[in-house]
Amino acid sequence: MPVLIMSGGIDSTTLLWYLMDRYDDIHVLTFIYGQRHVREVEHAKVIVEKAREKAKIYHKIADISCIHDLIAKGALTGDENIPEGFYTDDIQKVTIVPNRNMILLAVAVGYAVKVGEKEVYYAAHKSDYAIYPDCRKEFVKALDTAVYLATIFDPVEIKAPFVDMTKADVVKLGLKLGVPYELTWSCYRGEDRPCLKCGTCLERTEAFLMNGVNDPALSDEEWKKAVEIYERIKSGNK
Ligand SMILES: [Zn+2]
Repeated sequence: MPVLIMSGGIDSTTLLWYLMDRYDDIHVLTFIYGQRHVREVEHAKVIVEKAREKAKIYHKIADISCIHDLIAKGALTGDENIPEGFYTDDIQKVTIVPNRNMILLAVAVGYAVKVGEKEVYYAAHKSDYAIYPDCRKEFVKALDTAVYLATIFDPVEIKAPFVDMTKADVVKLGLKLGVPYELTWSCYRGEDRPCLKCGTCLERTEAFLMNGVNDPALSDEEWKKAVEIYERIKSGNK
């Protein structure tokens, strides 16, 4: 049975449905690490309820927000504002939480050993490569080796099956798998509704646009606005 790190966003929710296609039982771990958009955790709970219609899910919400003071830096966990614009813009680097995935994966590996499982999945993908170093293939490979050595008596593997896929590819797969995207949350700003302007909102809009479908988490009016903002910022960037 795999262990999956799930945030409540598009990528990890797609990975949950991908795993449900292959396994009947899944351990899901959701972390509270001091993120500003902690509302994603509420979405994760609702998504897990939905997933339970198809599979047996053990959901653990791990509150490790005590690490916040140690790693708070940048816009997701620190005091800086979440910038508008695409991930590929240099300004988006403020949304990096240094070494976040390493920390979350290390805890997830410990959990996997505890519950006697061999695989930890996370939803790193190609569209995040540009600025998030801990989503890159090289990182996944190196960490997998380190984790193997660290757990050699009960070896655990790190699996990132989307690592060569773009976010649009992930959504394409998810649409086929029937992922309930209307239940997911991406916006880093964590306000009542998605801001439609931050890097993750724009990336989300792009992924649905490239698949020729509306984002089902948005009303028709919000979707129209999202596309307008996306096209305006995209053309401004060229
Ligand atoms: Zn946003």
